[in-house]
Amino acid sequence: MPAQRLDGAALAQTIRAQIATEALDVAKRLGRPPGLAVVLVGENPASQVYVRNKVKACGQSNIHSELIPLPANTQEAELLAVVAELNARADIDGILVQLPLPEHIDSHRVIEAIAPEKDVDGFHLSNAGALMVGRPLFQPCTPFGVMRLLEHAGTTLRGAEAVVVGASNIVGKPMALMLQAAGATVTICNSKTRDLSAHTRRADVLVVAVGRPHFIQADQIKPGAVVIDVGINRLPSGELVGDVDTTAAMSVASAITPVPGGVGPMTIAMLLENTMTAARRKTGVPA
Ligand code: NAP
Repeated sequence: MPAQRLDGAALAQTIRAQIATEALDVAKRLGRPPGLAVVLVGENPASQVYVRNKVKACGQSNIHSELIPLPANTQEAELLAVVAELNARADIDGILVQLPLPEHIDSHRVIEAIAPEKDVDGFHLSNAGALMVGRPLFQPCTPFGVMRLLEHAGTTLRGAEAVVVGASNIVGKPMALMLQAAGATVTICNSKTRDLSAHTRRADVLVVAVGRPHFIQADQIKPGAVVIDVGINRLPSGELVGDVDTTAAMSVASAITPVPGGVGPMTIAMLLENTMTAARRKTGVPA
């Protein structure tokens, strides 16, 4: 039987509709809509698309968004000043600085400048550290979205063997922490891993976040596994593909996320959810 398609686009749509209603309620309490500021430095084409999608999603969910485009030659001090101004604004609940930043800017310093209570990407050290002990103010959007997809699909995580391929700070590492918190036994693989297939073939839940088209083949997947493909890769033809050879994997896995339409839309939905959470905290009603 071919694998079930884990439709992140449909689930994200449902979540966004709920957020749209909640946002109206929060707006009544605060006397203004929830607000997200998105800072984009430079003209990286992929970042421009991501930012445009985030801003559009806010509009559809009754969240006020403000796009702050800055030229590629913006100096770090200027960017830090913009962040400081956004930290001080009462009408902005969440701040997102789109990564990657141009090389002359230290992205760690910029992320650390964001007020933790507005850090809706969940990348600030205090939120990353708090995630480790299970008490983050915000969970990073991509792994948070994966957890929601798995929950929606009814995937058993308690006692499951979970393997995360990729160990970045924004996807792989927080993903592993969240799976572990849900009771899975987690292995994190990176570019130095010896015999990657030996790990992936043990996985009941396999999450791939490497950034290489069709990196994982069907023979590296355990029959019946749930496969989450985080990768977004644009082929020279213009086609978007994930890190997993989805067509071949369909005959081995029990469930798999498509690319596009899997993890990507969930990432945006979780950004809206984190922004709502930040706004709701200001109403005094428990978030
Ligand atoms: P990244 O920062 O480049 O990290 C890639 C990770 O893959 C690193 O940990 C690297 O290992 C590991 N890796 C590289 N080659 C490997 C190999 N041969 N075997 C095992 N591991 C290997 O990438 P990222 O930011 O995590 O993003 C990964 C992918 O997810 C990209 O395609 C990105 O576009 C996509 N993405 C999608 C969403 C979404 O919303 N769907 C969000 C974020 C990212 P080392 O640590 O050893 O270098």
